[in-house]
Amino acid sequence: MSTYQATMPPDDTTCGMRSCSARATVRTVIPPSRFEADGVDHSQDPSTFDTCVCHWPIMRAAVLGNGHEITDTTGDIEALKADYPTWSVFRRDSGRLYAAACRGTGLGITLDAWLAGQLRAQMESFLSVAQRVSAS
Ligand SMILES: [Zn+2]
Repeated sequence: MSTYQATMPPDDTTCGMRSCSARATVRTVIPPSRFEADGVDHSQDPSTFDTCVCHWPIMRAAVLGNGHEITDTTGDIEALKADYPTWSVFRRDSGRLYAAACRGTGLGITLDAWLAGQLRAQMESFLSVAQRVSAS
């Protein structure tokens, strides 16, 4: 078993899946292979793979299905819950992260992302806009 890291790719990175040119949203950092029985030199294997919002779930399922783990290096959902106690922050079985909040008179917002850092950025952006709106 190996641990893969999920992180944010640099801006303007495209999905590495064949024939997909969508903007990548998740970069997978692949641990070095110690597999030698195939006689192939794995030292030149790519160490990262970028996927778009559609292809990350497929990549994620393949990694987990092969018995490996994935660590989100952009943040931690428990830290988000602690930092935003009035929000409902949760992870679905698919790995998708959600943050939901009620704002005053029954107005609600739900944000979602694949990485904790992306969800936090969306929450901060929403709160900063909401603050400007309520101050005007
Ligand atoms: Zn893609």
